[in-house]
Amino acid sequence: MFWQQEMETLDRPALDALQLKRLRETVRRLERVPFYRGKFLETGLKPEEINSAADLRRLPFTTAADLRENYPDGLLAVSRDEVLRLHTSSGTTGKPKALFFSRRDVDTAAELIARAFCMTGVTRRDVFQNMMTYGLFTGGLVMHYGAEKVGCMVIPAGPGTSERQLLLMQDFGTTVIHITPSYAFYFADFLEKKGIDPRRDLALRKAFVGAEPYTEETKRKIEAALGIDVYNSYGLTEMNGPGVAFDCEGKCGMHVWEDNFVLEIVNPATGAPVGDGEPGELVLTSINREAMPLLRYRTRDLTSIIPGPCACGRTHRRIHRITGRSDDMLIVRGVNIFPQQIERVLMSIPQVGRNYLILLEGLDEMTVKVELSPSGFDGQVGHLTELQNEVVEKLRAELSVRPKVELVASGSLPVTEGKAKRVIDKRSL
Ligand code: AMP
Ligand code: ZN
Repeated sequence: MFWQQEMETLDRPALDALQLKRLRETVRRLERVPFYRGKFLETGLKPEEINSAADLRRLPFTTAADLRENYPDGLLAVSRDEVLRLHTSSGTTGKPKALFFSRRDVDTAAELIARAFCMTGVTRRDVFQNMMTYGLFTGGLVMHYGAEKVGCMVIPAGPGTSERQLLLMQDFGTTVIHITPSYAFYFADFLEKKGIDPRRDLALRKAFVGAEPYTEETKRKIEAALGIDVYNSYGLTEMNGPGVAFDCEGKCGMHVWEDNFVLEIVNPATGAPVGDGEPGELVLTSINREAMPLLRYRTRDLTSIIPGPCACGRTHRRIHRITGRSDDMLIVRGVNIFPQQIERVLMSIPQVGRNYLILLEGLDEMTVKVELSPSGFDGQVGHLTELQNEVVEKLRAELSVRPKVELVASGSLPVTEGKAKRVIDKRSL
């Protein structure tokens, strides 16, 4: 099922030509922004000299720091009265990153979500419960407007309490949810404890899961626990929020809407392009935004392009699920570790539950606290020790560092609304 079939299946030469046209328009638009005007002067590049996508590499990168330094509206490319909406992303430190939307930007963002809904088989007959935080975070409103475009009945639940979520699902027959992976796990535990079997007792069939990195193992666990199909949903505030890239029904990588975003994968250390299909940092240029387009934005998200056509017929290229962020790499006793590696190991062990926390303390001590699954402990302490040793050994084999492992009761680790905080670093290095 397509929302905009012609655009979604545009052949490569036509897509390249459209990208070039929109890139030129964007660069011209950005000449109004002092920050970019300065950058163009530095590189000596004139917009009319951009003749191919390869010329994109002559343009400067934009970083999160650039957004913060130009806060609140230094990167605005239209007049204030053309702005219809503001979203921000707070991140971990300092000033937020602000993103403005014009009327057309609000509409385009919704169109891209509508494409995603259609390509995962969602129709106007579906009931969509948005369990993401509303407010400045894009996961609320941007998704909401997209779902309304498709014509679903939308329940703007927000993250709320699980009791209330369940009540809404039961009373209004929710079929599709939008949720973070950490909340999906928490919610699955909640249902299990209440004795509710989602396959039998609820109408749920699909979940759009995103806003934070998660592994294939986690996806499978969510699918099994809730009896649904999970589609990966990727986006970031700087590029509209959700709807930048989305799984199609094949669940075989996320299509990036290339009529809206030019995608590059670069070596995070050097900024140089990597070879076809190789992993690196995703860099995005928004070529269909009015209020605040960004050139070659360093997302910090690590992924790779999946080569070859997709069975669904869409021509927009696919990226692999995000394996982590180049800035969330931990260095423990000199070894580089990504939290996703730990998650992958934990989620492959059946007795291990759905929530975990990585604690770094002292000089360089790593402790992984992990919940047991609700049925993971049979009351025999010996089995607990065996499981603990198994987790330590599997982590050591994956990471080349031996962490401490603490098994804790199901439901005892903190759950955050919105994005999960998996790493607490209190080291005195
Ligand atoms: P925000 O701008 O606050 O919405 O945060 C955007 C960031 O969330 C991205 O740059 C990613 O690091 C992360 N993110 C969003 N969606 C996903 C996803 N499906 N998989 C992995 N990380 C994601
Ligand atoms: Zn596809």
